[in-house]
Amino acid sequence: MAMVGITSCRKIEDYRQSVLHVGGEARLLDPSMSVDEALQGVEGLLLTGGEDVEPALYHEEPHPQLGEVDRARDAFEVGLVGRARAQGLPILAICRGLQILNVACGGSLIQDIPSLVAGALEHRLAVPPHQSFDLAHEIWMESDSLLARLMKERVPDGDVCQVNSRHHQAVKDVAAGFKVSATAPDGVIEAIEDPAARFCLGVQWHPEMLTHRPDQAGLFTHLIGAARARPGLALAA
Ligand code: MN
Repeated sequence: MAMVGITSCRKIEDYRQSVLHVGGEARLLDPSMSVDEALQGVEGLLLTGGEDVEPALYHEEPHPQLGEVDRARDAFEVGLVGRARAQGLPILAICRGLQILNVACGGSLIQDIPSLVAGALEHRLAVPPHQSFDLAHEIWMESDSLLARLMKERVPDGDVCQVNSRHHQAVKDVAAGFKVSATAPDGVIEAIEDPAARFCLGVQWHPEMLTHRPDQAGLFTHLIGAARARPGLALAA
């Protein structure tokens, strides 16, 4: 088994089930824990969706369309990212998770896509609860990325696929050392990864709502696989 630490959020059950479904174990991590306590025994980190990231963390003033922020959660997750990366833990970051990963590593965010990106697609698609896997737009994957390799292993038909979309923020400046692994047709960044890490991937869409699709479930399968295969466990202790 591989123990995956999942950051607390309002829709935790979708994330938890996605990990359990592919044979992982799940531990919920919340800001009442210290970073040390939270990561004790954890072999992989899943950063989940939720509130906007406090813009002061990337040296910007709040935009009028900034949504709810949770500074305690931000601080906790910045700490988790730093420690997890230092320990070589595999990281899968989803939606806000991608955004906090980018900010924790020195990048910045577009605070509100509709007001700041001319000609942007609809990225905050409201869908009725019974249609939770409705799709919103294409993503174009970089063919030499970890993301494309993982997805094509399951769906070998090119570097394009359809995803859902429930965000109004996106990556602006990509953190140093990271690269863009997918964009939407309007140029909005939809995935980033750290090519120097064994598995450190952030996606802007919600694969935890698309696990009926092999390519999307595969992201969780590979997180578990990377957690099990983590080298240098003794070094990280
Ligand atoms: Mn999107």
